[in-house]
Amino acid sequence: MSARKRFAVIGAGIIGSAVARGLLARYDGAEVTLYEKEDRPASHQTGHNSGVIHAGLYYEPGSLKARLCRRGVSLLVDFAREHSVPFDECGKIVVATNDVEVERLHAIHQRSLANGVPDVALLDADGLREVEPNAVGLAALHSPHTGIIDYRGLTEALVSDFRRGGGRVRFSTAVNRVEERAGGAIVYSVFDAQEYDQVIACAGLQSDRLAARSGEDRNPSVVPFFGQYFILEPEYDDIVNGLIYPVPDPKYPFLGVHVTRRIDGGVMLGPNAFLSFSREGYRGLGFNLPDSLRIAVNPGFWRFAAGNMATARREIAGVLSSEKFVEEAARYVPMLAGATGRRATRGIRAQAMNRDGSLVDDFVIDRGRATMFVRNAPSPGATSALAIAEHLIDEATR
Ligand SMILES: Cc1cc2nc3c(=O)[nH]c(=O)nc-3n(C[C@H](O)[C@H](O)[C@H](O)COP(=O)(O)OP(=O)(O)OC[C@H]3O[C@@H](n4cnc5c(N)ncnc54)[C@H](O)[C@@H]3O)c2cc1C
Repeated sequence: MSARKRFAVIGAGIIGSAVARGLLARYDGAEVTLYEKEDRPASHQTGHNSGVIHAGLYYEPGSLKARLCRRGVSLLVDFAREHSVPFDECGKIVVATNDVEVERLHAIHQRSLANGVPDVALLDADGLREVEPNAVGLAALHSPHTGIIDYRGLTEALVSDFRRGGGRVRFSTAVNRVEERAGGAIVYSVFDAQEYDQVIACAGLQSDRLAARSGEDRNPSVVPFFGQYFILEPEYDDIVNGLIYPVPDPKYPFLGVHVTRRIDGGVMLGPNAFLSFSREGYRGLGFNLPDSLRIAVNPGFWRFAAGNMATARREIAGVLSSEKFVEEAARYVPMLAGATGRRATRGIRAQAMNRDGSLVDDFVIDRGRATMFVRNAPSPGATSALAIAEHLIDEATR
C-alpha cells in the first residue's frame, strides 16, 4: 500500500470517526484529517439515540443494512471490550398484541434467521412472561444478544484512538464544499482549502447539503424526523429485564416507542417519530427557517405526507401529550399505565427521501473519483458504524 496518502473525513459522528481511525489502520503512514463543525464528537445523531446494539432482526436479507449490521456488531463489541467502553447484552423482545402483528412478527423472525441473527426464538404468551414478567402479548420474538451501549462514549474512544495513532482532528471547522481535481479533491472549510488524495463525507443531517454544494445530486434529500424520549421515575428501574419493542409498521422505517434500559441505569421510553422543523434543534419548538423551507419546497415530502396522514395523527398525539406517549408503551407493558417521568432530550434522524417522496430504506453511499458521500445511514447506523467504515475504506481502496 502506498505511503503518505492524504485523506480527509468530514463529520465526527460515529461513522466519520470510525472511518478516520480505520484509514490510519489500513494505510501505513497515511495523513488523515477529521473535520467536524462542532467543538466535540457525537454532537448530533450519534449522541442523541437509543443506545441499542441492534442484532439485525428487521433488515431485507442481502441489503447493506443486513450485512453491515451483523458485521458491525462484532466489530463494535470487540472495540468496546478493548477500550473499556461499557455495554450490556441485555436482550430484547418484540411483542405482538394482535393477529396482524403476529403475522408481521413471523415475517421478522424469517428475516432474522436469513440475516444470521444468533439464538432468536419465537415465544408464546407464557414464554414471553418468562423472559419479561411485566410484558403481555399474544406472541414475541426474543433476541437474547441485542445490547445497549453509550454511543457518545464509544465515539469519543474512537477519536482518542485515532489521535493516538497520529490522526488530526479539526473541531469547530465546518466544511463548505469539496471539489474534485485531477488526482484528488480539495476540501474548502471555513478557514482554508486543503488538497487530499481522497475525501469521505459522513455529514449525517447535513449530508444532502454538503453533497449538493460539492456538485452532487441534491437527491436523496434529508428529511429530519425527531424522536422524543421520556425517562421514567427510578421506581420503574426494574420494570424490564432488557428491551421491549412493539412490532413495527412495515410501511414506516421507524421501530415504534420502545422501553429501553440505559447503560447508565434507568429506563426510558421512546422515541416517537414526527417531522422536525429543524435539523439540529434539540430544545423547545426547535424551529429553523432554512430547514423548514427546505421541507416546504420539497414536492416529494408533500406526497409522503399525503400518504401517511393516519400515522402522523397517531404520532402527533404522543408529541403533544406525555400520557399518550406512555399509553403506547402500556399496550405491551400494562404496569406502565399512568407512569410518570420527565421528557429527556430528543434525537433527530437524518432520513433520506427520494424525489418521489418514498423513504430510502438501505444505507446509501455515492461515489466520485476521489470522493465518497454517505447519503443515508439511519438506524442501525451506529451499530453498523465500524462495518460501514470498513466497507467505505474497501471502496476507497478499489
Ligand atoms: C432518535 C434516534 C435513535 C436511534 N437509535 C439507534 C440505535 O439505538 N442504534 C443504532 O444503531 N442506531 C440508532 N440510530 C441511528 C444512529 O444514531 C445513526 O445511524 C448514526 O449516529 C449516524 O452516524 P453519523 O456519523 O452518520 O451521523 P451523525 O452522528 O449525525 O454525525 C455527523 C457529523 O457530521 C458533522 N457535520 C455535518 N456537516 C458538516 C460539515 N459541513 N462540516 C463539518 N462537519 C459536519 C455533524 O456536526 C456531525 O457531528 C438512531 C438515530 C436517532 C436519531
